[in-house]
Amino acid sequence: MRNTIIELKSADLTLGNAAASVHVLRSIDLKIAEGEAVGIVGPSGSGKSTLMKIAAGLAEAQSGEIFRHPSATIRYLEQAPDFGAHKTVEAYAMSGLGPGDDPYRVTYLLEHLGLKGDENPANLSGGEARRAALARVLAPEPDILLLDEPMAALDRKLRESTQFELMDIQSELGTTFMVVTHDQDEAMTMADRMAVMDHGRLVQIGPPDVIYEAPVNRHVAEFVGDINILEGRVESVEGDLVSVATPLAGIVE
Ligand code: ADP
Ligand code: MG
Repeated sequence: MRNTIIELKSADLTLGNAAASVHVLRSIDLKIAEGEAVGIVGPSGSGKSTLMKIAAGLAEAQSGEIFRHPSATIRYLEQAPDFGAHKTVEAYAMSGLGPGDDPYRVTYLLEHLGLKGDENPANLSGGEARRAALARVLAPEPDILLLDEPMAALDRKLRESTQFELMDIQSELGTTFMVVTHDQDEAMTMADRMAVMDHGRLVQIGPPDVIYEAPVNRHVAEFVGDINILEGRVESVEGDLVSVATPLAGIVE
């Protein structure tokens, strides 16, 4: 049995005021084991970022229980990182290190990700800013990385090389990952399990191929890929055999 590194039990959150409130998370149960890579997918506004913030300890649920392994180093990359008052990319990336971490990791990562350490963060392009933010969270070699759309704003080549970088880190260091992505292929490539969110609910979680082959409902089916949906009516059920009448294809068994 691998250790549980983060667990949410019945995590629930409503935001807003009496006039307009949003049920952002609805009774979320999610358990992440050491070394796992979990991809979080779902439409915009479904609660992915809020879920990540709660897992990272940067936001609180109104009810439910959150467990974080007490000795695990956690790093979180928010969807829109802020460089604060740091004057250089290197100073910003160094600010992610903990006591005893090796500053050479920053030098290595900046070079590896094609960044100049003495650049002013204010002058970075969108893609460079993303990479600088990644360097900052990767440098301390955390036990768990929570990444909110880490590849957004990267071009295809960089996306692929960054994906490989993350997968290398996972296999070399056994890092646990929780990654929000908009990109099905990315989730399929990187994640051991995929969690599909819809309107604050975690509607399905499982290996990407299972989600793809056996979606629990239409939302998941439509969300995970290029699919054909046949509208139909169940005509009969006999053991494992279901007959469905469809206007387009007749009886399908
Ligand atoms: P996602 O990352 O999946 O796009 P978010 O977690 O950012 O979704 O947001 C989920 C829902 O919560 C959205 O409807 C959003 O408008 C709402 N929301 C997020 N933050 C707040 C807030 N501080 N106050 C009120 N509503 C919020
Ligand atoms: Mg988000």
